[in-house]
Amino acid sequence: MKLARFRDPEGRERVGMVVAGGIVDVAKHLDHNDTLGIVDIIESWDTYRPQLERIAAQPADFTLEAVQLLAPIPRPGKILGIGLNYADHVAESGMPKPDNQVWFAKMPTATNAPMGSIELPTVSEQLDYEAELAFVIGKRCRHVSRSEAAGVIFGYCAANDVSVRDWQLSTSQFMLGKSFDTHAPFGPWLVTSDEVGDPHALDIICRVNGEVRQHSNTKHLVFDCYDQIEHLSHVMTLEPGDVILTGTPGGVGAGFKPPRWLRVGDVVEVEIERIGSLRHTVVRETLESIT
Ligand code: MG
Repeated sequence: MKLARFRDPEGRERVGMVVAGGIVDVAKHLDHNDTLGIVDIIESWDTYRPQLERIAAQPADFTLEAVQLLAPIPRPGKILGIGLNYADHVAESGMPKPDNQVWFAKMPTATNAPMGSIELPTVSEQLDYEAELAFVIGKRCRHVSRSEAAGVIFGYCAANDVSVRDWQLSTSQFMLGKSFDTHAPFGPWLVTSDEVGDPHALDIICRVNGEVRQHSNTKHLVFDCYDQIEHLSHVMTLEPGDVILTGTPGGVGAGFKPPRWLRVGDVVEVEIERIGSLRHTVVRETLESIT
């Protein structure tokens, strides 16, 4: 099943299910419950799953072209990313292969829709892409063993761990360089675990203006999704709707000599097998202050 969030032609934010021919407006078919959010559905999956399976046979309410897809989780409680998690990316980074999992936070305000634009910040020219498989937590959990980890994953998305390299690498903490507004796009929808199958056998591609820059497979993850859950859940409670980015393969802009930073007007696409694609155009950040 593919769950999505979208803005309908009247501008209303809706929860949807992707079906043949387009998207079904979930609330319309579930007792017109407009207050139902996607995280509510994830948290009470045993209740909603049979209801959603029943409406999966409905004709689409909208074509995908008629709606604007939104981030599948509107404001994740956490967005966490693991660094240096494909051997070829470790090599191009010039950093030593880590013995331990390297984690950083992307702030929830960086959340972005799966299609649209990403911003080139006013304070940097070193904008870079990172195609990544992301998974979304389905159950509140702590101290999850590797063997139990698959059971706490609700589903998967494609993600772009957009990075501002000078801000990322000018200090020992990656967080600021990973947390610029618009720099955590994921989607295009949330594909449930049962539909994805093995998350460690998915082709992953990034294109810039149609040119393939990254092409790998999630079988090359150094620490796989289950290792990641075991490790993180030693530290913190993982909650439904948390988004975890699993690392990027070689081919990022910073790995070229000279580096190939993203520029205004570039189109960046991330595609993951069995999940779908993201597509963004780079725009210059506008200097609007919010007070
Ligand atoms: Mg990354």
